[in-house]
Amino acid sequence: MLKNELGRIISFLLIFAAQPYCESKTSTQQVKLDMAKVLIIGAGGVGNVVAHKCAQAKETFSEILLASRTEKKCHAIAKAIAHPNFSTAQVDADQTREVIALIKDFQPSIVINVALPYQDLSIMDACLATGVNYLDTANYEPPNEAKFEYKWQWAYQERFQQAGIMAILGCGFDPGVTGIFTAYALKHYFDEIHYLDIIDCNAGDHGHPFATNFNPEINIREITQKGRYYEKDDWVEVAPLSIHRPIDYPEIGLRESYLLYHEELESLVKHIPTLKRARFWMTFSENYITHLQVLQNVGMTSIEPIDYHGQKIVPLQFLKAVLPQPASLGENYQGQTSIGCHIQGIKDNKARTYYIYNNCHHADTYREVGAQAISYTTGVPAMLGALLMVTGKWQGAGVFNVEQLDPDPFLQKLGTYGLPWHELVDQSYAFASEQE
Ligand code: NDP
Repeated sequence: MLKNELGRIISFLLIFAAQPYCESKTSTQQVKLDMAKVLIIGAGGVGNVVAHKCAQAKETFSEILLASRTEKKCHAIAKAIAHPNFSTAQVDADQTREVIALIKDFQPSIVINVALPYQDLSIMDACLATGVNYLDTANYEPPNEAKFEYKWQWAYQERFQQAGIMAILGCGFDPGVTGIFTAYALKHYFDEIHYLDIIDCNAGDHGHPFATNFNPEINIREITQKGRYYEKDDWVEVAPLSIHRPIDYPEIGLRESYLLYHEELESLVKHIPTLKRARFWMTFSENYITHLQVLQNVGMTSIEPIDYHGQKIVPLQFLKAVLPQPASLGENYQGQTSIGCHIQGIKDNKARTYYIYNNCHHADTYREVGAQAISYTTGVPAMLGALLMVTGKWQGAGVFNVEQLDPDPFLQKLGTYGLPWHELVDQSYAFASEQE
């Protein structure tokens, strides 16, 4: 009897796995799922925001456990949080068995991974071993190679399907909201999307001569690698930061923007096969680029270990240790971010352009949760993705990128949780001069 019941549940979940998304749930299941325990791993800039935002949604997240390598960072966050059931723990998430023990003890419905990309696979393994749903904001990177690709995490597809659990990859802002914006454009405005330019501007000033807005090691690895974009069925590779142009950002104006390779390009090109070109642009100030060039020239951005007084050290890890921590940048941070998607394609055989974006002020996010806007724009979508999973609005068995899920319930709530968005349909197109 029990075996049959289990078989039925597994088939039910597998059927859902075959659907791109599904929203229905019985009311009994809904009530059970509405009160969820959440385990957050990582107590940095983003972990702080996820913890605050889960605590704000206490009608859904009835119990929250924040775990990280350095537990005192969890304590500092816990002090600022008002939630009746908030606890902390120490965990080394590189050790799957430690994560399994934590999950078995706390029994969460979902694990939100906002540690570093290096921990993605060990945490996914722990979720598989315990049958718990998983969500992250950055795709896996091997620590000793500056390379990110979805192949390692997509390889978990069958195992997650068989276990009847869901993994959502890259549910921050970029990747994350940018994929959801694109899915929303396709669902409501286009028959085919042909051109996608994701544009990311931080027009803020934190007052430090040089600092990165999220983990310095991951950030510098991302920026110093070759630029890459998709065009005409092929990936084009260019020298780092060699292609740049001014782009006009709402409420900010023209800012020099650099073509980078960014992970959502890989999944969007796979899931939206009509794309003829997909690119990602990010702003950097001249001051930032100069510092980066100097650091590169003197070897400080290298990930090759060197011998220092008989000890092996990785220059980039040492650099991270002396740079300001992203979580510490919020105070006195002025200005705003603007991240969005410029899209061109066709609707009813006519050309159409679409621009969808969010602007976010550093000072506002600092006032609300003590964080700068980069951490905030990452942490809010991570919490919201988890909320949609545990309440059954997003469900399925397997490994998903966000553009495979229904964008509507997400975008209906994004503004309520602090990230209002705007759209411009058939207005002037920022990249018009570059079309075929
Ligand atoms: P931080 O460096 O501020 O925080 C990382 C946290 O992870 C720290 O608390 C760190 O602990 C913890 N950690 C590191 N290794 C382990 C481990 N082995 N076990 C347990 N905890 C560990 O980074 P951010 O908060 O800025 O970034 C967090 C994640 O968010 C990163 O993966 C980043 O790439 C991603 N991100 C995604 C964005 C998006 O839009 N999609 C944008 C920005 C960031 P300790 O304090 O001991 O070092």
